[in-house]
Amino acid sequence: MSAENGKKSAKYIFVTGGVTSSLGKGIIASSLAKLLQSRGLSVTIQKFDPYLNIDPGTLNPYEHGECYVTDDGAETDLDLGHYERFLNVRTSQANNITTGRIYFNVISAERRGDFLGKTVQVVPHITDEIKRNISLLGETGEYDIVITEIGGCVGDIESLPFLEAVRQFRFEQGENDTLVIHLTLIPYLHSAGELKTKPTQHSVKMLQESGIQPDILVCRSEHPLPIELRKKIALFCNVQVSSVIEAMDANSIYEVPLLMKREKLDQRALYMLDIYNDRDYELTAWEEFVHRLQNPAHTVTIGLVGKYVELHDAYKSIAESFIHAGAVNRCKVRIEWIHSESLTVENASEILKNLDAVLVAPGFGERGIEGKIEAVRYVRENGIPFLGICLGMQMAVIEYARNVLNWPEAHSFEMNPQTPQPVIDIMEEQKKVTKKGGTMRLGAYPCKVQKGTLAHAIYGKMNISERHRHRYELNNNYLEALQQAGLVASGINPETNLVEIIELPTHPHFVGVQFHPELRSTAENPHPLFVHFVKAAMTYADQRQHAAVEE
Ligand code: GLN
Repeated sequence: MSAENGKKSAKYIFVTGGVTSSLGKGIIASSLAKLLQSRGLSVTIQKFDPYLNIDPGTLNPYEHGECYVTDDGAETDLDLGHYERFLNVRTSQANNITTGRIYFNVISAERRGDFLGKTVQVVPHITDEIKRNISLLGETGEYDIVITEIGGCVGDIESLPFLEAVRQFRFEQGENDTLVIHLTLIPYLHSAGELKTKPTQHSVKMLQESGIQPDILVCRSEHPLPIELRKKIALFCNVQVSSVIEAMDANSIYEVPLLMKREKLDQRALYMLDIYNDRDYELTAWEEFVHRLQNPAHTVTIGLVGKYVELHDAYKSIAESFIHAGAVNRCKVRIEWIHSESLTVENASEILKNLDAVLVAPGFGERGIEGKIEAVRYVRENGIPFLGICLGMQMAVIEYARNVLNWPEAHSFEMNPQTPQPVIDIMEEQKKVTKKGGTMRLGAYPCKVQKGTLAHAIYGKMNISERHRHRYELNNNYLEALQQAGLVASGINPETNLVEIIELPTHPHFVGVQFHPELRSTAENPHPLFVHFVKAAMTYADQRQHAAVEE
């Protein structure tokens, strides 16, 4: 696998899905990658999404869950978050490709005249562009294995060009250089008391119709797969029995790598790719993390105030960051999902008073804004630990301006361009932006943390870098007034002076960040802001309990 020039020549694993969506291709791909990585191989994962949007940046979170942002500023599918959280390595734009981007590239080439004289067609032009993107990461020479997850389900009209490209790619590569893993469902029929293999047989047939014979079947199931059933699946689907892998429902996605290890998924994959590897698994840190997750000694309840709370995937990275931070603190974090539209001056106390901490979430637009501001007021006045992320931080600034500086009409230019005090204003470079797609301030930017602040105590260093996704910022024309009233700007972008972190020294834990710390938290490297926030929630819960006993 290591070529002579020191660069690796990659092998390729494709993960397809059948029977139904939402079987967890991303988690299976991440778990396999984790196991391969733990055996010393260098692995990356990419996701190909069949929809026509160039990227999910303009999608409503209700449609597609959270938009995950990479260091290089790509707005991507939330599965990339899983890749990073499992592998502890960074992804980039190259790790997420949509049909829209493929077509955009081909059509742009056509307009340039690259195909002069030719009719531009799905085969070969679209499939060639897909194949070029399949090998993009492999050609860097950094990876032993590139795993490509094909979004959607076998049988979807949109998936066809991807499957055709995979078929061609396999045909063109050397023998044993590619592998197809098909994820499928073995439903349990309660009335018959039986596990059923027919849907799997049909979905494999459909894959075969596209000219692809899967090498390994990963079968999601609520019950263990008996050997007779595995033999039946193997026989009908044209794979060996040892290539039928059981994927039982797990309590936590973080247990799946260990389940896959027991099922020998990685061993099977390496064998079929003809990769010799006798390295021991280095999974100690992972196993410790899972152990701590399964055996918490404390519990806290943290309110998450947002406007997309009906769909928890809209806040995927935040929820996962709480799991990581909870595990380090041996604390189970229960999230209380609070709809910002339901919060009012009258009911804020009733809804928030029993919480151990409150996070005000990122977001866009007017809906639910007053509820977020009300949540900030309540936790600020009552000493409840607070973390505001992006829009959550901006709402904290507005709340402070309204209720401490007594500017009742203070607002963000985003919600009210006529406000007399736009304490949150549009960024200068955003004023000329007219198109919505990919035009926010995106990706990693540096931030200087001021010594002697809570932020500095949390990070333990002055120079940090965090990921962003926004168009508005704290208006520096009002910074002095806010500071005089007690608000501290504890993190600043060194080039533009944009305020990145705010805090309130008079409060036990009041922190707002313009960036998204949740995008950098991983299982083995939990984000310090979340670790500290959970700790503050535990302290607050303790104090409340003592106060209750004394009463
Ligand atoms: N709407 C705000 C802005 O664009 C906040 C964005 C966010 O929370 N990601 O600045």
